[in-house]
Amino acid sequence: MRVLVISDIHGNLAALESVVGDALGKYDTVWCLGDVVGYGPSPNECVAWVRENADLCVIGNHDWAVLGRPGINVDDFNPMARQAVLWTRDTLTPENHSYLDTLPDRPIQPDGADCFLVTHASPREPVWEYVLTPGIALENFAIFAQNACLVGHTHKPAIYRWHLERGLENEETGEVTIDHVLPEPDMRIALELSATQRVILNPGSVGQPRDNDPRAAYALLDLEKMSWEQKRTAYPIDLTQSLMRRADLPRRLIDRLNYGW
Ligand SMILES: [Zn+2]
Repeated sequence: MRVLVISDIHGNLAALESVVGDALGKYDTVWCLGDVVGYGPSPNECVAWVRENADLCVIGNHDWAVLGRPGINVDDFNPMARQAVLWTRDTLTPENHSYLDTLPDRPIQPDGADCFLVTHASPREPVWEYVLTPGIALENFAIFAQNACLVGHTHKPAIYRWHLERGLENEETGEVTIDHVLPEPDMRIALELSATQRVILNPGSVGQPRDNDPRAAYALLDLEKMSWEQKRTAYPIDLTQSLMRRADLPRRLIDRLNYGW
């Protein structure tokens, strides 16, 4: 089975449509790592697409904030993110609101893919924690038992490889190393999962990349070949920006899409 892995769409329909077009014919199922809404101008269209097409979706911190659930105070967001959350809350249809409300707020093990775990932020803090350093990755590897965990939330594509060292007699030494790899687009990486090799994988963000590359980011996971391919695709940024202007969303959120930060 080939999986289209998408995360942090953030209501950016033009970016989502470009990803879907770019990945056409290359996947059998869709896993979505949350933050379907927030920031962007087309929350209903993006939620509708995910409802229709994703086999699995977990809740992100922006989705949670839009729902107005206890546990997240919208005042904890920066003023621009807060404005976007409140606008999204007013814009979302009751049907799409109900869908977001059904999304799990804990890590999920996908059916038929026992060695994977899927979460928005991290295994330790499924909605909030940013896995941005090898140290944080190492602490999180201790939290889950599966060979691989998919995370989003940082809006930066990344691979953290956990490797358990073997001694001369092939015995476990207990020594662990973590490699932080920044995956090159279009490079297929063999995951080589085993008791001594595990990974945390982040596909980056569809709708608001923050790694200085404004193109939409996603990944293709092949469960038979056990490979991970990081992908980037250009999308009509100006289309999203004109819709954001029409919705009177904050200027800085509009401008940042040009730069990918
Ligand atoms: Zn996000």
